[in-house]
Amino acid sequence: MKAVVIDEPRSVRLADLPMPHAGADEVVIRVRACGVCGTDLHIFHGGFRADYPVIPGHEFSGEVVEAGAAVEHVRVGDHVTIDPNISCGVCPFCRRGEIHLCTHLTALGVNRPGGFQEFCLAPAKQVYQLPHDLPWEAGAFVEPLACCVHGIDRAQIRASDTVVILGAGSIGLLITQLVRLAGASRVIVSEPSEEKAELARALGADTVLNPRSTDLTQAVRDLTGIGADLVIECVGHPGTVAQALTLPRRGGRVLLFGVNPKEAEVPIRPYEVFLNELTIIGSYINPCTHARAIDLVASGRVKVDPLVSHRLPLDDFPRAMEIAEAGGAVKIMVAGRS
Ligand SMILES: [Zn+2]
Ligand SMILES: [Zn+2]
Repeated sequence: MKAVVIDEPRSVRLADLPMPHAGADEVVIRVRACGVCGTDLHIFHGGFRADYPVIPGHEFSGEVVEAGAAVEHVRVGDHVTIDPNISCGVCPFCRRGEIHLCTHLTALGVNRPGGFQEFCLAPAKQVYQLPHDLPWEAGAFVEPLACCVHGIDRAQIRASDTVVILGAGSIGLLITQLVRLAGASRVIVSEPSEEKAELARALGADTVLNPRSTDLTQAVRDLTGIGADLVIECVGHPGTVAQALTLPRRGGRVLLFGVNPKEAEVPIRPYEVFLNELTIIGSYINPCTHARAIDLVASGRVKVDPLVSHRLPLDDFPRAMEIAEAGGAVKIMVAGRS
């Protein structure tokens, strides 16, 4: 079977590997769609703690083709997606119910083979059933959406909140929709690309501001009078984080959702955090939010189809990295082979 292998940073190849087989509590999934995530690009660049050589890809859907003897909740033929993050269950964090903070966390597509291959082996407990009529690509959006659901939980949106979202890439566009569903009365998105701005408007933004031609802090102040109840940074850049800190009202919250480079630093005035009683919130991956994310895509409450900007076959994975690197893509979807 074909598999994308990243041997070391910047070195990607297509390999022919033996078919995996399921142990008692594992399943083999024929991958039908796998989304390219910023993390895959980080792994390609070497800016992420992956175990090389690695088969990347952690946002995928597919069909169960083999299930171990002890597997009961899914069967051969089922359509599924996976929670790529595997927690140990016994460390101090797992035992407090904070499984995503697990000391021994490993992940498909990072520390063990992921979805950019024809067949992927997964521990059965990571596997979630999808409705049979859900398109494969929608199934591949469950993982990033589950991360966003966790972020929205962390942000504790209240009905009527005014929310500013920085960045309308695939994450910003999922967050835009969730913020709407969570009851925000006004959604302001900051996005320089006109194409992405158009998508943000179509998916629920009331106002889209271009941060290159607008003084964002002033514009948000003008629109809200006092600043935003909640600001969500979805870019993962120190410049936008610094900008995010200028946008909340007194008593407001800032959710840092975008993944910054590891070494990035942002100047912050503690006095202003004190004086304005700001809350700065982190959000990491997707503990137990997959089932909710599946409900959101299956019900059509969250639209994912408009987010797919590129579709490529598995063989073109190196090109997917080039497109992702160039920026401008929203979501690149890599199709499995049939
Ligand atoms: Zn991802
Ligand atoms: Zn643990």
